[in-house]
Amino acid sequence: MNVKHPGVTVWFTGLSGAGKTTIRMAVEQELRDRGLKVEVLDGDVVRENLTRGLGFSKADRDENIRRIGFVSHLLTRNGVIVLVSAISPYRAIRDEVRERIGNFVEVFVNAPLSVCEARDVKGLYKKARAGEIKQFTGIDDPYEPPLNPELECRTDLESLDDCVAKVLGKLEELGYVPAPAIIA
Ligand code: ADP
Repeated sequence: MNVKHPGVTVWFTGLSGAGKTTIRMAVEQELRDRGLKVEVLDGDVVRENLTRGLGFSKADRDENIRRIGFVSHLLTRNGVIVLVSAISPYRAIRDEVRERIGNFVEVFVNAPLSVCEARDVKGLYKKARAGEIKQFTGIDDPYEPPLNPELECRTDLESLDDCVAKVLGKLEELGYVPAPAIIA
């Protein structure tokens, strides 16, 4: 069945290791299972193609987000549910992208730095603390939390299932995703 629905960009922002990719993947699977059109822009992947060559200065980080936002906008206006997972540490550029896209749901994936660092999923915090990586968000580069995100997932306090249910519930509530039919 080809379900018609308005497009939307779901923007997962937060520190490295906060849980953006993990939540995004579970949300993606659920939306695909429901037969909806989904596309993904993952910060790490995008930096190997669309924004290859950009670094981690504020100017480069903003350009990275602007390009992701540009593609997200094209997809969103064509009825796709776009899932973006990117640290996207600067508030102003996130808000700029939000304005441009319109149908935009910001999910603040939040866990204390100490928790993200203890998880150290990719071993990057260790390298940053050792000075092997510079300009690492949370260590020697800023992260500006959203002031009014549509959702916040506290991944140190809430289970993955809870976080996923919150995201799907919000998308249903806002009319971007049809609620699953209740079979009596
Ligand atoms: P990011 O994409 O933000 O860098 P990842 O998703 O790669 O983060 O890693 C997050 C880590 O935190 C994973 O190892 C995941 O299993 C763990 N985790 C623990 N609780 C949660 C939760 N509630 N939601 C998402 N991830 C969680």
